[in-house]
Amino acid sequence: MMERLGQSSEFAARCWVKADHRLPIAGSVKARGGFHEVIAFAERVALAHGLVEANGDLLSLVKPEVKELFSRYSVVVGSTGNLGMGIGLISAALGFRATVHMSHDAKAWKKQRLRDNGVEVVEHGGDYAEAVAKGRTASEADAFSHFVDDERSLDLFVGYAAAASELAVQLRECAIPVDHDQPLFVYIPCGVGGAPGGIAYGLKRIFGQHVHCIFAEPVQSPCMLVQMLSGMDRCVSVYDIGLTNRTEADGLAVAQASMLVAPLMVERLDAIYTLTDDQLLSLLLVDHETIGLGVEPSSASAFAGPLMLSTEPGKAYLAKHGLTDRVGQATHIMWTTGGSLIPATERAALLERAIQVAPFTTDF
Ligand SMILES: *Cc1c(COP(=O)(O)O)cnc(C)c1O
Repeated sequence: MMERLGQSSEFAARCWVKADHRLPIAGSVKARGGFHEVIAFAERVALAHGLVEANGDLLSLVKPEVKELFSRYSVVVGSTGNLGMGIGLISAALGFRATVHMSHDAKAWKKQRLRDNGVEVVEHGGDYAEAVAKGRTASEADAFSHFVDDERSLDLFVGYAAAASELAVQLRECAIPVDHDQPLFVYIPCGVGGAPGGIAYGLKRIFGQHVHCIFAEPVQSPCMLVQMLSGMDRCVSVYDIGLTNRTEADGLAVAQASMLVAPLMVERLDAIYTLTDDQLLSLLLVDHETIGLGVEPSSASAFAGPLMLSTEPGKAYLAKHGLTDRVGQATHIMWTTGGSLIPATERAALLERAIQVAPFTTDF
């Protein structure tokens, strides 16, 4: 795939995919943070009722009497789609009542899949932040309801952060060192910031300055970029600088970054690049024609990461960090964050549009 995008075979051999789009049930990175949060809540409820033992086998959470208990509780979440899918499906599987508040970006098939699995879907005309706010309010009114707060939850964040130790093990198994001479570059699509922020937090803890954490955002929804450039004194949204927050990358259609995560990124996030919807679609097509991973547009943004290093800002970044001579020995990881659940008809429609756009280029 990287050779098709104009890179040398030596460079291509150093590019890897962390395929979170293949994670079971959620089909996205949400299986990390979202599942951790719901299972942690389930454990607390079961513990409070004496139905499981502290630090016992979590599989006892699926016993019939525990499921019976869970049916009295509901789990509520606001989402542009994937978080709702992850939370809704795991909550319903454990026996909770589940309600997902969806923003206008949410794809029809995601809503249908949730309804087919017994999840209640509440549709809102507004954006992601509005869906989250509506869900939060609805949940607060009900003592038996747990709200998964994508903008503020620490349980979500640490669930994502745990991915870093998994990756460290995988790198070791593949005999790939990460050190001064062989730095690691990780490219992760960013929405509200929880998933990429958690992963970056974990990676920096393990690899320190030898890992370079780079986020990808849509041109119309670069909420983390806007917040980083504005400083941490106040929240700034993409609307404040005249952008629309309209993008084909529904997983990244977020106007305002998490203020739990943004301050943690000041010292940890190394760079951000943005892509137009046409660039995302063209990358989707290259994927389809080469390795065929079948990711969604949000996730395709990761594929541009290694190419961004040869742009002028990319070269300036390498020079600033004294990496120009060592970049040839670097390892690149493109974090594909979602897409394996896309129905065939949706995928065909996306590819249909992708053939109409110009081939991928970093000059736009
Ligand atoms: C949620 C999501 C992201 C980003 O996660 P945030 O926590 O919103 O930053 C990236 N890609 C896909 C496919 C997602 O579903």
